[in-house]
Amino acid sequence: MTQINWHERASALRFDGRALIDGERRDAHSGETFDCKSPIDGRVLTPVARGREADVDAAVKAARAAFDDQRWAGKPPAVRKRILQRFSDKILAAKDELALLETLDMGKPIQYSLSVDVASTARCIAWYAEAIDKVYDEVAPTAANALALITREPMGVIGAIVPWNYPMIMAAWKLGPALAAGNSVVLKPSEKSPLTALRLGELAIEAGVPPGVFNVVPGFGHEAGEALALHMEVDAIGFTGSTRTGRRMLEYAGRSNLKRVYNELGGKSAFVVFPDFKDLARAAKTVAASIFFNQGESCNAPSRVLVHESIADEFVRITAAEAPNYQPGDPLDPATEMGAIVDETQLRTVLGYIATGSSEGATCVTGGRQVRQDTGGYYVQPTIFDHAANGMTIAREEIFGPVLSVIRFKTEQEAVQLANNSAYGLSASVWSDNLSRAHRVARALRAGMVHVNQYDEDDITVPFGGYKQSGNGRDKSLHAFDKVTELKTTWIRIDP
Ligand code: NAD
Repeated sequence: MTQINWHERASALRFDGRALIDGERRDAHSGETFDCKSPIDGRVLTPVARGREADVDAAVKAARAAFDDQRWAGKPPAVRKRILQRFSDKILAAKDELALLETLDMGKPIQYSLSVDVASTARCIAWYAEAIDKVYDEVAPTAANALALITREPMGVIGAIVPWNYPMIMAAWKLGPALAAGNSVVLKPSEKSPLTALRLGELAIEAGVPPGVFNVVPGFGHEAGEALALHMEVDAIGFTGSTRTGRRMLEYAGRSNLKRVYNELGGKSAFVVFPDFKDLARAAKTVAASIFFNQGESCNAPSRVLVHESIADEFVRITAAEAPNYQPGDPLDPATEMGAIVDETQLRTVLGYIATGSSEGATCVTGGRQVRQDTGGYYVQPTIFDHAANGMTIAREEIFGPVLSVIRFKTEQEAVQLANNSAYGLSASVWSDNLSRAHRVARALRAGMVHVNQYDEDDITVPFGGYKQSGNGRDKSLHAFDKVTELKTTWIRIDP
């Protein structure tokens, strides 16, 4: 098989940074743009429309009109299914272009843009397409003189505000259930990674999603994002991003129309290793693969290892020995495992946390430095801190970079207490060959997703989301329909 030369492909790529509103590509109402830069080398890729209130308003009006005239919601589920299946097929047909846009825009390795991001995006859309003509409503067990129907109806206009770490996948997790259920959507991608969202919008229209049903308004959070979350005609916000911005989403809803808010937020997930887990190398290699994947920019990254003191030295030794496999490289080289940090601001944040970890007394056993400065891009070595304490900043705050903190514990009770002593509760994992202990600890962990003796299992069929300040609501699985539908009870009198 001939290898694709991704650099050649990149230089031939055409960008279109205009918004997508009511089926048309449009410049921002103000005519303003912002520069979309690549973290690979700091180069400007293209100007992108700087959406503000007027653009959001036009998109929401188009979405509302599309919902009200039932051009999409009124189609039989089987018809929406076929159109969304075509959308998924088009995503796969455009896989090289989408993967390249994703890698150029946010710096992840091209091999993973292809095998993970494009593949999961297409699968997500296809899965909700397949599901929608198979979900049934309910009839309540009432007395014989009445019939009570419990039905799900599309909510109306869904505002989707998503982050930059998995731009396409995060968009798909909102779009799949929302579009399948018959809603209209206004998507606001991150200003750091707007390109694939715009292309997805075009592909949806080519597949037959009617104009106005799926709109994309790029722009900044405090401009386009705020306007969308405050809009009186938006029925629900599906938000994925930081806990800080998630708080604002709740405020915006309170200040506007009490729209439903579903927040999918940050994490500081614990990876708990007991001495009765015999294959220590597998646990150590799994944590390295999981924390360094996507440059550590994963909400569910296991960034806090809790390891029993009797095996901690060995565990840290094996994990650190894995670091050379994840040294940052050219994201366009198919062999690269770890790419660039999304932008200079995030690079400074990550380096700042690394400095704080050392100054607070943790021991940096590997990494800790910026590398590949000659490229003009933003790269950080895989970094491991040993002898961290749960009270340290690096153990409490989400770093969102390739930085692992290792904390030692003495007893099972202490391990559970440390794992749960966090503002977050997104994901967790427990490693033990003792069946009862594995179940006991899995039950005690306050997290939306708990893994036993593994970390990387994931599927569109299971819910994704967290406890506590990691958010509410769940993306993925049939449960995601709860966030984009209203529950209606209809009473019908039956005369004797
Ligand atoms: P962010 O909160 O800075 O931005 C997310 C989105 O919100 C962007 O589109 C941004 O433009 C918009 N936004 C920012 N400020 C806003 C404002 N004042 N009003 C309205 N919109 C605003 O987060 P980020 O840095 O893009 O993403 C990283 C975060 O996302 C991490 O905390 C990560 O854990 C989280 N995340 C969570 C999940 C999950 O499923 N729980 C998945 C991926 C990422």
